[in-house]
Amino acid sequence: MGAAQTADVIKTTDSFDDISSDKIYCANCVHCKLIRSNTGSGSQYCLRVRCNAGMWKKKLGEEKIYKYFTVARRSPDTCSHYEPMGDPREFIKELKKTLPIKDEVYTNLY
Ligand code: SF4
Repeated sequence: MGAAQTADVIKTTDSFDDISSDKIYCANCVHCKLIRSNTGSGSQYCLRVRCNAGMWKKKLGEEKIYKYFTVARRSPDTCSHYEPMGDPREFIKELKKTLPIKDEVYTNLY
C-alpha cells in the first residue's frame, strides 16, 4: 500500500485515554490547515480542514476535505509526511474541549 493510500485510513479517537504521544494526529501536524468554505449563501461560511501535503484523497484521487469539528478524529496509522508540532497529548485534549460539536455556519463581517 502506498503512502497516500495509507494516510487515508482514518480512525475515530473518542476517548481522552486513547491519546498517546506515539500516535499520529493530523490536527497536530503542520500540514493540517484550517480553511473557510463558502456556503453559497452571502457571506456565510463553514470551517473545513485540508492536508496541504495532499494525503487526504477520495477513491478517484480528488482531494478530500473534512469538517472542522471532526479534525481530532484524523489519526492515520502511518504518514510519511507527518510533521508534529509537539507532544499531542495536551494539545488534542484541549482541542477536543474547544471544537464545535457539529458543523457550524459563520458570517464574515468584513
Ligand atoms: S501530512 Fe499526514 S499527518 Fe499531516 S495532516 Fe496530512 S495526512 Fe495528516
